Amino acid sequence: MPQMDIGQGANMDRLFADIQYVKGVGPKRNILLRRLGIENILDLLWYVPRAYFNRGKSQQIANLKDGDNVNLRGMVRATHSWRARRGMAIFKAVIEDDSGFITAVWFNQPYISGLIKNDQEIFISGKAKGCPGAFEVHVSEFEILDHEDMEFTVLPIYGLTEGLNQKTMRRLLHYVLDEYLPYYPEIMEPQAKEKYGLCNIDYAIRNIHFPEDGPSYLAARKRLAFEELTVFQIGLHVNKTLNLSAGQYISHLEKNQLVENIRNKLPFKLTPAQQRAVTEIFADMEKPLPMNRLLQGDVGSGKTVVAALAMAKAAASGYQSAIMAPTEILAEQHYNSLQQIFAGTDVVIASLTGGTPTREKQMIVEAAGLGNIDILVGTHALIQEQVVFERLGLAVIDEQHRFGVKQRALFNSKGLSPDMLVMSATPIPRTLALTVHGELSLSIIDELPPGRRPVKTVHISAADRMRAYRFVRQETAKNIQAYIVCPLVEESEKQDLQAAVSLYDELKHEILPGINLGLLHGRMKSSEKDQVISSFKKGSIQVLVTTTVIEVGVDVPNASIMIIEHAERFGLSQLHQLRGRVGRGHKQSYCLMIGDPRTEEAAARLQAMQKLSDGFKLAQEDLRIRGPGDFWGVKQHGLHQLKVADLIKDQKIVESSRDLVENMMEPEQLLRWQSYAEYKFKKSSHIVQN
Ligand code: ADP
Ligand code: MG
Repeated sequence: MPQMDIGQGANMDRLFADIQYVKGVGPKRNILLRRLGIENILDLLWYVPRAYFNRGKSQQIANLKDGDNVNLRGMVRATHSWRARRGMAIFKAVIEDDSGFITAVWFNQPYISGLIKNDQEIFISGKAKGCPGAFEVHVSEFEILDHEDMEFTVLPIYGLTEGLNQKTMRRLLHYVLDEYLPYYPEIMEPQAKEKYGLCNIDYAIRNIHFPEDGPSYLAARKRLAFEELTVFQIGLHVNKTLNLSAGQYISHLEKNQLVENIRNKLPFKLTPAQQRAVTEIFADMEKPLPMNRLLQGDVGSGKTVVAALAMAKAAASGYQSAIMAPTEILAEQHYNSLQQIFAGTDVVIASLTGGTPTREKQMIVEAAGLGNIDILVGTHALIQEQVVFERLGLAVIDEQHRFGVKQRALFNSKGLSPDMLVMSATPIPRTLALTVHGELSLSIIDELPPGRRPVKTVHISAADRMRAYRFVRQETAKNIQAYIVCPLVEESEKQDLQAAVSLYDELKHEILPGINLGLLHGRMKSSEKDQVISSFKKGSIQVLVTTTVIEVGVDVPNASIMIIEHAERFGLSQLHQLRGRVGRGHKQSYCLMIGDPRTEEAAARLQAMQKLSDGFKLAQEDLRIRGPGDFWGVKQHGLHQLKVADLIKDQKIVESSRDLVENMMEPEQLLRWQSYAEYKFKKSSHIVQN
């Protein structure tokens, strides 16, 4: 196959032929295929099987063991279907091979009884349960055999929709592979294929559908994963270089007395990791190029002060900075700590949130536009249209995973390519971070300030909730403060609120009478929230009953108990964030997670929380439990649309493809890949603009 020349790449247009007009499709199947997201030939070629039947590997019934994952081939000898308790449909078939009989079971698939008949030859795969002589196989995949398919040892199993069957899909793919594969461009450079051990694209696409054998499947998979990830990296790379080719840039002063003064006045010494991050950020800021840096550090690792130093540098260089936080509470807290950090300097700090009274808002907006405010702290309010800066030099986004990609871009546009610092406690493993945030440079704070002790974390079943409250009562007597976080009811903020209010009442009147309780939730006025938080900071509120509004960022070092109600409803990153509210002082802290997990996943999360305190390890565990598709923030990046590549299994490929794009490609190769990427995704916008 010739190397692709995108200039005359019109051949590839054939791959965009509408699926409706492909031989054997027609109007009815057209609708069904579109339901699967298949609109053209290209989509179909990349419609990767979700599993395979390997006939070469079928086992003998006589050799099965309990718990085995099995692949069997045999004849259907008897069938039986009925409805069990609670209406569950059960279908059983007795299957015979040369070595014996077995019962295959299908749950809740009422249509099966119409498909499977006596004396058919069938393949099943699933899990064996029972003991020799009385085995059942709980079927996950099955296939009624047909002589048409006999020549293949490995058969693809596609994700289907009602009205389409495997046979139709296979036939369609056979046809399309023969007819259209020759038009598929080979885009990978020969050197890259050699260096990374990649097969040709036509071989890969054919073998991902109809693998000749195990090794050819693996080769196909590797090549396609590599291709997908390279396309993705190209998108990131293009964004990165685009950023660098616009307008004039800011550079901040190198020597900077204000920064030194502030650093010396801090009540603590920066940790080596914080110091390293500051050095990296400063180096970027001094360059006459826009900084795009992600500061990643576990909950409580001290990111705020790093941002404060960067803002000091900007202020002393004559530029304004802005810092945006996802909640009012957090913005207010940043405002207060910046006031402290900058006390005694002439740096002017203001805060702007949704709750700022209109009059005041107008004044602040005006002052920012005139350049009379050096540091503007706020929430989403900062990116509203009327806010303009006279000379924004640094934009900081805290808890960036809480913001959408668009919001970030908006913020970025508030100045002439200001330096950008995004901060996140979302502890993504390094390789993944480089992929998801490929357009950013990365600084990592990988140690906590000295003296922190891991938070003792215990799971308590709902029936034992009183134990947790007895503990709170006993500890508050020793001047220790606690948070009690209420269940999260996803569907409605109103219900969240009700849950918090009624728990508050119950605690106040029945369970913890005599203790000073405070209530905090998202529907309160900003002034009320401030009031509550500051009373809690001062200690006049001993126990703060709250919704998840305190989930991120809140810093009250004297609070050392965190009680989480219905902990089973929270995701692992949320649990970790919540727990991160305590363990900030020198005292031993506790996190009590109340709840009865109803799924294996939920149980695994609580287990992980008890076992691990390091956010990076928890993130890895979370990936393992959930898979990368659901991983924090990954969805919005479109990485979940990868059809073959798996960000965890394919870390090596992620790295290689990055290496290929960043270090090995000549400009014209980059251009070719870029057109290919655009071509490939011209219908769907898989490449995410970051
Ligand atoms: P996060 O990274 O979660 O945003 P914060 O910036 O809120 O963390 O810092 C957590 C707490 O640690 C704050 O009370 C802060 O004052 C304190 N802190 C930050 N850096 C240090 C340090 N080097 N030594 C001691 N305490 C520190
Ligand atoms: Mg923070």
